[in-house]
Amino acid sequence: MTIDFRSDTVTRPTPAMLEAMMKADVGDDVFGEDSTVNSLEAFAADMFGMEAGIFCASGTMTNQIAIKCHTQPAEEVICEKQSHVYQYEGGGIAFNSGCQVNLIEGNRGRITAEEICAAINPNDVHKPPSRLVSLENTSNRGGGSCYDIHEIEKIKELCDQKNLQLHLDGARLFNAMVARNEAPAVYGKLFDSISICLSKSLGAPVGSILLGKKEFIHKARRIRKLLGGGMRQAGYLAAAGLYALQHHVSRLSEDHRHAQQIAKTLQEQHFVKSIMPAETNIIIFEVSPPYTAMQVTEKLKEKGVLVYAISLTRIRMVLHLGVTPAMVDASCAIVAGLQLDEKERGT
Ligand SMILES: *Cc1c(COP(=O)(O)O)cnc(C)c1O
Repeated sequence: MTIDFRSDTVTRPTPAMLEAMMKADVGDDVFGEDSTVNSLEAFAADMFGMEAGIFCASGTMTNQIAIKCHTQPAEEVICEKQSHVYQYEGGGIAFNSGCQVNLIEGNRGRITAEEICAAINPNDVHKPPSRLVSLENTSNRGGGSCYDIHEIEKIKELCDQKNLQLHLDGARLFNAMVARNEAPAVYGKLFDSISICLSKSLGAPVGSILLGKKEFIHKARRIRKLLGGGMRQAGYLAAAGLYALQHHVSRLSEDHRHAQQIAKTLQEQHFVKSIMPAETNIIIFEVSPPYTAMQVTEKLKEKGVLVYAISLTRIRMVLHLGVTPAMVDASCAIVAGLQLDEKERGT
C-alpha cells in the first residue's frame, strides 16, 4: 500500500463525483453555453456573496488573470516572500503583467496591515505605483497557517484608504474557513478578487474559480481567452468542482484532525528537530541534523509513505480525502518505527 502525503493535488475523483461528471449537461463554454460551468460559477459567486465567477484550468491561471486585471505594467504588487504568486508561478507576475513585486517577510506566510503600510510607495517619480496587495490563506509555505480575520479587516481598510486592490490566493481557503469556523460571505466582502482551487483539498481533478465584480470577471474572460484558457465542453470538469463545493467542504475537519495526529507522532521522533503548528491539512517539519530531508523521504518511501522534501532540511506532508483514518494510523506506526542508518546520514 502506498500512502501519498506529497500534496492534496494527488486525489482522484470519488465514484459519486465521477457520476456527477458523467451526467453533466454541457455546451460550448466559449459561447457561454455550458450550463454546468455557468452553474458552478454562479454557485461559487453566490456562496461568497460576490457578483460573478469564472472557471479556469488552474490556480496559477486564476491568480495570474487576477493580477493582470488589477494592474498596469510597471506597477507594484505587494505580497509575502514565500507566497505562491511569487515563488511558484514561473515569474508570471513579470511575464504576464509586467509588474514588479514588493516582498514582505511575514510570519508563516502571513503579513500585517502595518507591514503593508510600510511597503506602500510614496507618490514619487522614482517609485513604481503600489497597486495590488495579494494575500494567501491558508499559506502553503507557512504550513497551512490561517489569517486572523481581524488582520484582514485592517488590511482591507488600509487598501481602501490607499486606493489599492486586494486579491486573495485562496487555494486552500476552505481549509481556513473550516478551521476558523468562518463564512465565505465574510471573505467576499473583504476582497476585490478571490481565487479558489477545486483541485486541492476539495478533491476535484481539475480547476479553479476566480471571483469578483461583474466588470472584473468580464475583463478576466478576455484575459483567460488570450492565455488560451477558453475551454469548450468544460462542464464535465465543472461538475466535479460543483460536487466538491457541495459535498467536500465539511469533511476537511477530518484532514485537520489527521494532520494533528501525525504532527504529534512526528514531534516524538529523534529525527525531527521542529515542526510548524499543524493548523489545517499541511504539516511542515525540520529534520534534525545530521539527517537530511532526502534521507527521511527515501526511508519513508521504502515503507510506502510518500512525503515531499521542500528543502534540504524540510519535509511537507499534506492530508486529503484519499487518506483514510486507517492510513493515518499505519503512517504513524511507520514514522514511529523508522530506522535511519547512521552511515547514510548527512549525505
Ligand atoms: C496550488 C496552489 C496554487 C495554484 O496552483 P495550480 O497548480 O496552478 O492549480 C495557488 N496558490 C497556492 C497557495 C497553491 O498551493
